[in-house]
Amino acid sequence: MKIKIVDLRSDTVTLPTEEMRTAMAGAKVGDDVYGEDPTVKELEATAASLVGKEAALFVPSGTMGNQLAVLTHTERGDEVILDSEAHIYCYEVGAPALLAGVQLRPVSRLLSEQGPSVLRQALRPADLHFPRTSLVCLENTFNRGGGTVLSPRVMAEIYDLARQQGLRVHLDGARIFNAAVALNVDVKVFTCCCDSLMFCLSKGLAAPVGSLLAGSRDFIQRARKYRKALGGGMRQAGVLAAAGLVALKMVDRLAEDHSHARRLAEGMARLPGLKVDLARVQTNIVVAEVPAPGTAAHLVSELHRRGIKCAAFGPGTIRLVTHKDVSAADIDYTLQVMAEILG
Ligand SMILES: *Cc1c(COP(=O)(O)O)cnc(C)c1O
Repeated sequence: MKIKIVDLRSDTVTLPTEEMRTAMAGAKVGDDVYGEDPTVKELEATAASLVGKEAALFVPSGTMGNQLAVLTHTERGDEVILDSEAHIYCYEVGAPALLAGVQLRPVSRLLSEQGPSVLRQALRPADLHFPRTSLVCLENTFNRGGGTVLSPRVMAEIYDLARQQGLRVHLDGARIFNAAVALNVDVKVFTCCCDSLMFCLSKGLAAPVGSLLAGSRDFIQRARKYRKALGGGMRQAGVLAAAGLVALKMVDRLAEDHSHARRLAEGMARLPGLKVDLARVQTNIVVAEVPAPGTAAHLVSELHRRGIKCAAFGPGTIRLVTHKDVSAADIDYTLQVMAEILG
């Protein structure tokens, strides 16, 4: 018997739509390293204008976009301030040290209402012994925070303070459109509060591959050079960019993922033993505490055996992510399976 699979590990598992496949098949392409791919150029121009920046650069992954930003904004030996739960700190293989030769300064609660005061306390006075701090990295929505939205007001306060101190701000906006849809605001409300940002096409927006790095024309020109150095110069990449252009028209559909996450979270909160902080379920991510510490991996494997895929997010927490390829019926089925396990 074939068991039903519901894949809630990540919104990266989304499959391209028929419209994307058609656009990819018919895309006008050229050698993008020579600047001759019209579809990549169109994607970069469309993305830049959508987020209110001068220019944008198509990159193979979100990680590469973030690392190009770190490389471009810093010098070797600089310090970069970021949240201790930030993706750039937790999940990018130590690349800031490996590639840019910078020191990361993780601080807790930067991505919270207290962010501005946390940043103020992390600033270093001029002193021969101290590293030069040159960059602050923000993340919105905040993955390890449970997909929470950092408010535009907090972002603006952090950006103002950073600028007063001569620091640049990069936004890891892998899911910035989820933040915009959650607050029902133009994404520029967030993106005006940073010098550069990265966002992913390959998550809730369902493109097969790709992210964009956006910023000033000068910044993007320098980042393009680093992209080439890292082997990220792609040739007839318009085949991928064509799907990205379709993805950019799918922003409004993220609201559906958010309502599915809410339905899932409310159902999980009613199950014995699971604890869900419903106030933190603001977008398409649900984080739940499991019955006993250390049992997250066990619950994940029990669910997996029954076709429900999700991820342990720590010894006592699991993460579930809703996306285009998960329906309301799949959510109800997931809750039913969880109820059977947790009985
Ligand atoms: C997914 C993600 C990234 C990196 O994207 P990849 O395309 O997987 O390299 C960066 N930051 C955050 C917050 C993410 O969720």
